Amino acid sequence: MIASILPTYSRAPLSFEKGEGTWLIEADGRRFLDLGAGIAVNVLGHANPDLIAALTEQAGKLWHTSNLYEIPQQQALADKLVAHTFADTVFFTNSGTESCELAVKMARKYFYDKDQPERVEIITFSGSFHGRSSAGIAAAGSEKMTKGFGPLLPGFVHLEFEDEEALKEAITDQTCAIMVEPVQGEGGIRPLSDATLKGMRELCDEHGILLILDEVQCGVGRTGKLFAHEWAGITPDIMMVAKGIGGGFPLGAVLATENAASGMTAGTHGSTYGGNPMACAVGCAVMDTVADPEFLAEVNRKSGLLRQKLEGLVASHPDVFEEVRGAGLMLGLKCKGAPIDLVNSGYAAEVVTVPAADNVVRLLPPLNITDEEIAEAVTRLDRAATSLGAA
Ligand code: PLP
Repeated sequence: MIASILPTYSRAPLSFEKGEGTWLIEADGRRFLDLGAGIAVNVLGHANPDLIAALTEQAGKLWHTSNLYEIPQQQALADKLVAHTFADTVFFTNSGTESCELAVKMARKYFYDKDQPERVEIITFSGSFHGRSSAGIAAAGSEKMTKGFGPLLPGFVHLEFEDEEALKEAITDQTCAIMVEPVQGEGGIRPLSDATLKGMRELCDEHGILLILDEVQCGVGRTGKLFAHEWAGITPDIMMVAKGIGGGFPLGAVLATENAASGMTAGTHGSTYGGNPMACAVGCAVMDTVADPEFLAEVNRKSGLLRQKLEGLVASHPDVFEEVRGAGLMLGLKCKGAPIDLVNSGYAAEVVTVPAADNVVRLLPPLNITDEEIAEAVTRLDRAATSLGAA
């Protein structure tokens, strides 16, 4: 008999009842160090007092009105995002997948309005992940995600990750955009080099096409800059955001330049819940902390500390690990065996991590993890690796 929850996930037998900062408390009382943060979502940890205050204050006033009316919290968050990024305008969504949907529509509409309706193709890369909607799976294109779900949304051209020659050749007069994650998350913490990202920007400029960055996982302070593309000194035309921006409350956004967004006039897109007052009140509180240069400097310092300790861990378990990679507090431990084995032995050592493709275990802790918690996390990972090595 089918489970009462559609069985699309293989869940770990853990049921967390409470969260405190970087800690998750299981129903049986065990305290787990959370290096997953709900897959890069809880950027300020669990039960953060500032976020609780923002949410409960708004919850006591007004939950929902709809985008038929002005929403002051939405305006405030849009103004903050515009002030801190390349963007001139923002549309709010509820998830990364919805941000992908709008990014695709926006890029196609841009060229439609420029009398180039044939420019519909979006170039994407192997190992990418852009969500589970029809556009999201067609964009990523992997067999694992698309098999059985055809006919797929047409108009995506899939290239090998970091194949610059193939990219140059793939741009035609049907291309409208390149869509790429500056650091692949689900694909196994694979950062694009700054040179590659710069090269993509140049190619887009040369051909007059749009650069869409998917910063759903790597954005919002995760890599030590507010957005990961800042490391390469470039800006996109369109950017997909979600996860961290809501700190655990469902919230996403598409940020765009005025030029890229020019086709999205009244009536061309919408969402009942997108930009909901509660989500945006929390989003403002997240931005007030994460966009602070001192906070980002701390993310970079802690990244150095964690990375250094992880290098030691890898060196002392050559049978288990191959390398550490990633940026900021978006780090990956490449394993010799299946990553799920390390994740499971991590559960036994009361530390939470997240598996990814390419044999990588992801470490995506809350960005305000403390130095002591970093030390404790690596002690627990060491225990997990030791029991795995002994198995
Ligand atoms: N894009 C990237 C890079 C992601 O990592 C994800 C989710 O993991 C998505 C899009 C989809 O986001 P959501 O699950 O919020 O729909």
